[in-house]
Amino acid sequence: MRDIAHFVNGQAFNGASGRFCDVFNPNTGEVQARVQFATDGEIDAAVQAAAKAQVGWEATNPQRRARVMFEFKRLIERDMNSLAEILSSEHGKVIADSKGDIQRGLEVIEFACGIPHILKGEYTEGAGPGIDVYSMRQPLGLCAGITPFNFPAMIPMWMFGISIAVGNSFILKPSEKDPTVPVKLAELMMEAGAPEGVLNVIHGDKSAVDAILTHPLIRAVSFVGSSDIAHYVYQTGTAHGKRVQAMGGAKNHGLVLPDADLDQVVKDLSGAAFGSAGERCMALPVVVPVGKKTADELRERLVAEIDTLKVGISTDTAAHYGPVVSAQHRAKIADYIQIGVDEGAELVVDGRDFHLQGFEKGFFIGPSLFDGVKKGMKTYQEEIFGPVLQMVRAESFEEAIALPSEHQYGNGVAIFTRNGRAAREFAARVNVGMVGINVPIPVPVAYHTFGGWKRSAFGDTNQHGVEGVKFYTKVKTVTARWPEGDVEDSAFVIPTMK
Ligand code: NAD
Repeated sequence: MRDIAHFVNGQAFNGASGRFCDVFNPNTGEVQARVQFATDGEIDAAVQAAAKAQVGWEATNPQRRARVMFEFKRLIERDMNSLAEILSSEHGKVIADSKGDIQRGLEVIEFACGIPHILKGEYTEGAGPGIDVYSMRQPLGLCAGITPFNFPAMIPMWMFGISIAVGNSFILKPSEKDPTVPVKLAELMMEAGAPEGVLNVIHGDKSAVDAILTHPLIRAVSFVGSSDIAHYVYQTGTAHGKRVQAMGGAKNHGLVLPDADLDQVVKDLSGAAFGSAGERCMALPVVVPVGKKTADELRERLVAEIDTLKVGISTDTAAHYGPVVSAQHRAKIADYIQIGVDEGAELVVDGRDFHLQGFEKGFFIGPSLFDGVKKGMKTYQEEIFGPVLQMVRAESFEEAIALPSEHQYGNGVAIFTRNGRAAREFAARVNVGMVGINVPIPVPVAYHTFGGWKRSAFGDTNQHGVEGVKFYTKVKTVTARWPEGDVEDSAFVIPTMK
């Protein structure tokens, strides 16, 4: 049995906790490795190593830090194929999608290559008589990231890419379900020239997360995962004086107006609802057609489209999507489908009986489609995170826009229409953080910023882009003058610009 070790201070580190978690190959259902879980003492040792590295790294000039990011980008491109193969073998997504996972993270690294420019700061000459004011962003200090299973390359890079570029060392606690790629990324970071201890990976579950959230040397924690845990991380981390950004779950809606191009909508919905087996926080699992005619037509076309979908193993280049991450997750999705039936929604396509010949023990589940889903249903209110598309019919634009706006989650949303005015009004009014207009998965590019609203995110700064830079830095503002001549009197009244 292969053991996956921690990565601390520039090398593999074998812990002694005796606690492990099985890492499966979702295609075969077999255990392929086991990942070590760290003790509190081991986590403290990683933190001490990172804190030591912090001193030299924050003193390294931004251009030299950027050069490490440039080299890191080159190394990831060099190793793209092997990283994607590992990623697919632990996560289950198809190889092309794994490359997308890595590439979207790499785009944050590209943004981080420009860090000297972004950190230049602000300067006002002559803010008062002979007074200049300037602000600079300084590294916050040692930071940590806790990441989910569904993007084991992209999400760690969202976090450490920015944190390291601005001058912080970093502790990553990746998902225990697919931990190998995060370790490889740390190895590549060292190969790219980052000093030992600047990026460390420790594995674990709640106990490792708690050790991070309460450690006095860790200044900030970035979390991405499900909402209840995100809320817990936010509360615990902030109670211990840390900056916390905690992204949670999602239930993204796609509104289809009567004038939308239905041929295109069906293609977009199919990819966005079923791609990566629906295990994306920006998947589109709820479709809201406006008007009966649109709904009936859409349903007919969706059924035909779903019939063409191919579910296969991750290395099958013809497969649209692969297995889900674990047997438990597969069972949870199947349970949700049954709950949907029991609460009165119409199960138009049932993916539960799908089996892949030769891979009967793999965690596969076929695509499912529900119609007649209603606002009060549990399966509408909660995140399923599987290949299940739910149709909620609306009579009017107002009824449709109210659905995502009032939902507990507010990560992404999309509208499909040819009417620019309706789309503009939708974008302005909808109570959701990321909006697509004829774009089914509106994940913003790396130099913009990623973050949802409501129970999809706790804390007030987003991932990557300038928001990410703000999260990992602290601002210092200097007001300076160089007086000459006579001594001035004390001022007992606050100076103003009046
Ligand atoms: P998860 O919440 O189970 O796990 C996320 C991280 O928290 C992992 O590192 C895990 O080890 C740790 N963890 C697990 N249980 C914990 C506990 N009780 N206390 C503290 N930490 C704990 O999430 P997941 O299943 O790995 O990922 C899927 C979820 O992530 C979905 O809800 C999805 O919507 C969400 N997600 C959100 C975004 C976003 O940006 N909003 C992006 C990707 C995924």
